[in-house]
Amino acid sequence: MPIKVSELEMFSPPCDPGSPVWGARVTTDADLEPIMPYVNAVKKNALYDGRIPTVVWREGPHKYALRGRVITINNLKDRKHAERVAQRVVDELNELWERREEIEPDHTTRLPPKLLDILKLLPRTNCRKCGQASCMAFAARLVEGEGGVEDCPPLLEKGNEVALAKLREMGL
Ligand code: SF4
Repeated sequence: MPIKVSELEMFSPPCDPGSPVWGARVTTDADLEPIMPYVNAVKKNALYDGRIPTVVWREGPHKYALRGRVITINNLKDRKHAERVAQRVVDELNELWERREEIEPDHTTRLPPKLLDILKLLPRTNCRKCGQASCMAFAARLVEGEGGVEDCPPLLEKGNEVALAKLREMGL
């Protein structure tokens, strides 16, 4: 620490190579493990697994994951957008690290929600608009930390606000 961006690689969702929405894999020059319990302490609904270790949280339209030296960010429009969001999260992590003596680190493991709990909240029409063969396959990706609820277009339609809010509360 402090963290600096070494490399930024864009990727499209594996299930949807032509997607207009991108993800970014941001390699940093520092091991992010020491800051993870602090992220877990301050980010509402963060999912932390100290065995790997990794921490995942959602904020606004993006989902962030820290693992090793890598920050993964989803739901990005293009490279410039990715660079802005990546710099913002790196600045925030550096600021959090500077304040670490004021924060009680949280080492509590919170694992991703169970597949069936996610499936219950999906539209369950198996329409494939997410690029997956079924809602079950989509739920399995979410459990693995791949993609986000915004990849299911029907979920963003009117009438699904409660289900969407519950899924977001799960950190998905
Ligand atoms: S887009 Fe949503 S409703 Fe359609 S198959 Fe995928 S998860 Fe199910």
